[in-house]
Amino acid sequence: MKTVLITGASRGIGKEIALKFASKGYDIILNYNSSEQKAKDLSKQIEKLGVKCMLYKADVADEVQVEQMVNVALKTFGRIDVLVNNAGVALSKLFQQTTPSEVAKVFGVNTFGVINLGRAVVPSMVSEKCGKIINISSIWGKVGASMETIYSASKGAVIAFTLALAKELAPSGISVNCVCPGVIDTDMLLNLNNDEKNDLKEQTPLNRLGTPEDVANVVYFLASDSANFITGQVITVDGGFAL
Ligand code: NAP
Repeated sequence: MKTVLITGASRGIGKEIALKFASKGYDIILNYNSSEQKAKDLSKQIEKLGVKCMLYKADVADEVQVEQMVNVALKTFGRIDVLVNNAGVALSKLFQQTTPSEVAKVFGVNTFGVINLGRAVVPSMVSEKCGKIINISSIWGKVGASMETIYSASKGAVIAFTLALAKELAPSGISVNCVCPGVIDTDMLLNLNNDEKNDLKEQTPLNRLGTPEDVANVVYFLASDSANFITGQVITVDGGFAL
C-alpha cells in the first residue's frame, strides 16, 4: 500500500487530490489547518473507500509543526511515497497597499510551506531511494498577475524550487514536478461575483472554468508509474488561459 501526504487537503483542489489517490488505493495523510469539520468529513469519506486516512492539523508555514506531522506520519505508515504540496493562500490587492505581514503570510504558506515539507520529507525519500514530489504553483507564478504581485512571486519561487530540487534529487531516484492551475472553481474564487467568473470563463480558450478534478487528474498522473521518466516539469492546467 502506498502513502501520500497532501497539504491543505480539507477542501478545494487538495480535497479532490485526496479523493483521487484514495480511489486508487493510497493511504492518505490529510493535512489541514483551520477547516477541521471539513477535514473530518472528508476523512470519513476516504475511509469508506477502504484505505487509511490520518488527519493532521498543522500550519505548513510552521517548520516545527510540519516536522512533527511528518514524524507522526512516518511512524504510522513507515514511509511517504508521494508528497503533494497543495496548501495555499491568495492575496489580491495593489502592491503598494500590501503590508509586510501580508507578504510574510503569503510567502509563509505558499513558499516556505513547500520548503518546510520538502525539508521534513526528503530525508526519508532519499533513504528509500524513491519518491515523488508534486508542488502546486499557479499560472500567475509563470506569467504574473496584476493585483496579485506577492501571490505571483510566492508561486514563481515554487517553480524555481521545483526545477532546482528536481536536479538535486534525481540521482536519489526522486522526481519533483510542478502543476500550475489556471482559474479553478474553488473557495479561492469566493471574492469574485458571477459576472467576473463569466468573464474569466470567456477568456479561457476551452470556454469553462477549471475544476479541482482537472488538477487532481494531472497530479495523480505525475505520481503514477506512467510518469516515471518525468522530472523537473512545470505542467499548466488552465484550459489555455495563459496562452
Ligand atoms: P482553497 O479552496 O482556498 O483551499 C486552500 C487549502 O489550503 C485549504 O485546504 C486550506 O486548509 C489550506 N491551507 C491554507 N493555509 C494553510 C496553512 N497555513 N497550512 C495548511 N493548510 C493551509 O484553494 P484551492 O483553490 O483549492 O487552492 C489549492 C492550491 O492551488 C493553492 O496552492 C492555490 O494557490 C493553488 N491554485 C489555485 C487556483 C484557483 O483558481 N483555485 C489557481 C492556481 C493555483 P484549511 O481551510 O484547513 O486552513
